Amino acid sequence: MLIAIEGIDGSGKGTQARLLADALKQRGLSVELLSFPRYDETFFGAAVGRFLNGEFGSLAEANPYLVSLLFAGDRFESRQLLHEKLQSNDLVVLDRYVSSNIAHQGSKLPVEEQQALFDFVEQLEFEVYGLPRADLNILLDLPAETAQELISLKNARSYTEKSHDLQEADRDYLESVRQTYLAVAKRHAESWRVVSSLVEGNLRSIEEISDELLTLAVQAADS
Ligand code: ADP
Repeated sequence: MLIAIEGIDGSGKGTQARLLADALKQRGLSVELLSFPRYDETFFGAAVGRFLNGEFGSLAEANPYLVSLLFAGDRFESRQLLHEKLQSNDLVVLDRYVSSNIAHQGSKLPVEEQQALFDFVEQLEFEVYGLPRADLNILLDLPAETAQELISLKNARSYTEKSHDLQEADRDYLESVRQTYLAVAKRHAESWRVVSSLVEGNLRSIEEISDELLTLAVQAADS
């Protein structure tokens, strides 16, 4: 089973993917974790790092179709690894997957042009590159403002010297990615679950959110 943890930058994906993998292991399942982009492991991952570091122009300058090729290329180079992990484990938990490409690149286009990009990315990643579809996508939802506060807490990253990379620095961009994610999750409700990180305006604890993720993963595994 393939579970993808999705959400905007700073939404807690890395934290929650790790905790979910650990919790599932404690229940006796064999679980592996994989995080995309693989900045330090693949040719395209390194190119994504350069893009996020601003080396290929601003967010508005870089054509979203062309940018999607970088993120997809990173997964293409990781396809064998992903297949091996899926074959030798009960579950693989992903910190970002194909839907990140869909939400991020789609959000750069007017709503009426988004579906064509969604179709392009799905055809590229699932059909041309033969990547497996996720059985369950979990969206960690929170406002861009809160996400940016959490990004400030993050440790230094290998691909940039900046505290906030190209996407992380742009609140309007993050908020539009959030809205695109929510629309995608609503449209594909059968394979998506939305977990709110805020309750009545307050950030929920990491443990509380992780308990909810475990419940969702166990439900999906049992069905
Ligand atoms: P992402 O992988 O989505 O960019 P991270 O998992 O790296 O996000 O989380 C960003 C930062 O926010 C980390 O320092 C993490 O410990 C912190 N964080 C994540 N979720 C919460 C939460 N619910 N409450 C407090 N801090 C959090």
